Amino acid sequence: MDVSSSLVERKPTRQISVGNVKVGGDAPITVQSMTITKTADVEGTLQQIYALAAAGADIVRCTCNETEAAEGLAQIVPRSPVPIIADIHHQYKMALAAMEAGVQGLRLNPGNIRKPEHIRAVAAEARDRGIPIRIGVNAGSLDPSLYEKYGSATPEAMVESAQQEIAYFDEVGFDMIKISVKASSVPLMVEAYRQLSEVTDHPLHLGVTEAGPPPAGLIKATAGIATLLMEGIGDTIRYSLTADPVEEARAGRQLLEALGLRERKNVDLIACPSCGRAEVDVIDVANRAMAAFADREIPLQIAVMGCVVNGPGEARDADLGIAAGNKRGHLFVKGQNVAVVPEDEMVDQLVEWAEFINDHGVEAALARVDLVKAAREADKDRARLLDEQGTDANHASEKIVEIRKTTR
Ligand code: SF4
Repeated sequence: MDVSSSLVERKPTRQISVGNVKVGGDAPITVQSMTITKTADVEGTLQQIYALAAAGADIVRCTCNETEAAEGLAQIVPRSPVPIIADIHHQYKMALAAMEAGVQGLRLNPGNIRKPEHIRAVAAEARDRGIPIRIGVNAGSLDPSLYEKYGSATPEAMVESAQQEIAYFDEVGFDMIKISVKASSVPLMVEAYRQLSEVTDHPLHLGVTEAGPPPAGLIKATAGIATLLMEGIGDTIRYSLTADPVEEARAGRQLLEALGLRERKNVDLIACPSCGRAEVDVIDVANRAMAAFADREIPLQIAVMGCVVNGPGEARDADLGIAAGNKRGHLFVKGQNVAVVPEDEMVDQLVEWAEFINDHGVEAALARVDLVKAAREADKDRARLLDEQGTDANHASEKIVEIRKTTR
């Protein structure tokens, strides 16, 4: 069984188009993020949009909270590498202005644009222009009547909020909709999305709102989004982190790749957790390798292993890896030792080999070296390490003797 690809059967949804990006149906699950610049700052916002796109965002949202922001959007949209969605709160006129500016999508919060005639006016304009709208329900800003009816922001209240909004859109024959029911509580958002997916086939936008700064925010967002994706629920995702939004885009992309829901675009860096056998500071080398590869489009799995005793074997499925031994690094390709490099060149050599494999393939990489010599060198260091440390590098047997002495 090929467990590297996704085992998830997605719940069927309708498909909409956000500019040239399809959402829902059989389209790949997309990554979204949001700029944190003032939208009126056209150059600053575009710079951030380009950074988000490079980190993996398929769609970017910008706030449209004032006339200057809408005017900024008119200049941003034609120069953006990805479709732009305008984020609207309270002012329905900003939705109309953003559409005039040429945005490819809108996000409305039904909790704060409440007048039915305003909602219908926006939906009718969006229908005429072919612009999709996300109904962005947020547990923290539901219509007061729903809090009254349900006592608090329950999953049922959030689903009802979305359904009320859909009904207004139905009245004007508008159905280019996607929906989100976000909450900062993971169990609440998971249950709200589950219930929503039972009653609608509109595509769903997943997120844990106000997840907070990493690493806790990353864990919360991943817990909520990944749980739903593995149940086949969700068509587009956003990490809401209190961090540089590039981290949001990167996390979204990495989650989809890890779940086998998107093709790998960047390096998948794996590394051993290190142990008493490590011949190098694995955390430091792994971090430096991570920084060296950053957002480079090299879709290979690359391993950083602390010792040559177990490293190449444990990471034999990686396309490329390095294992430390005796002040030098042993490079291996698909588990086969290919070269020995000085310790301080380990990361540079990893990058060089990764680029070569990406351009020419594994076979060409193996053909360019003396495999026998590389294997002999690795065996030498492996034997030396085993000799020095034995098979008990963490000195467990000595510790056990000491423990027995103290407990008898
Ligand atoms: S045995 Fe070697 S490869 Fe495995 S965790 Fe320890 S240092 Fe890393």
